[in-house]
Amino acid sequence: MVDSLKQKVAYLQGLAEGLDIDHTDKEGKVIASVIQVLNDVAGHIEELRAAQQELEEYMESIDDDLNDLESELDFEDEDFIEVECPKCHKEVMFDSDILEDDDTIEVTCPNCNEVVFINDGSFDIETKGIDADLAGVKDNDDI
Ligand SMILES: [Zn+2]
Repeated sequence: MVDSLKQKVAYLQGLAEGLDIDHTDKEGKVIASVIQVLNDVAGHIEELRAAQQELEEYMESIDDDLNDLESELDFEDEDFIEVECPKCHKEVMFDSDILEDDDTIEVTCPNCNEVVFINDGSFDIETKGIDADLAGVKDNDDI
């Protein structure tokens, strides 16, 4: 678009020169000035377009960085299961992927090496299991 604009201005310039316009003449001065202004405008638009192009590339690089950051955050947002070690009562975190793993995996407490979870169904991952049991006992007492 800018190229065609500059081309048009150059064409006008050529036309004006072809007409052998007298630059000392009032009309000639106006025509020469108009062409000069058009030339300046076309130049400014070209500069603006280059600056905008630079800005767009910069925005794209920021967008890429943002995407990288987001995927890193997604990774950290993976599901973790938190259990309390029955021995030392430290909170032990492990990846929930372990639950779906076909191999038997033992999760041990990093503090005392007590096994806090095995993915063979022998461990109840419901951390509120104790509360539920207490509620059950209470119900039985009522009966
Ligand atoms: Zn422990």
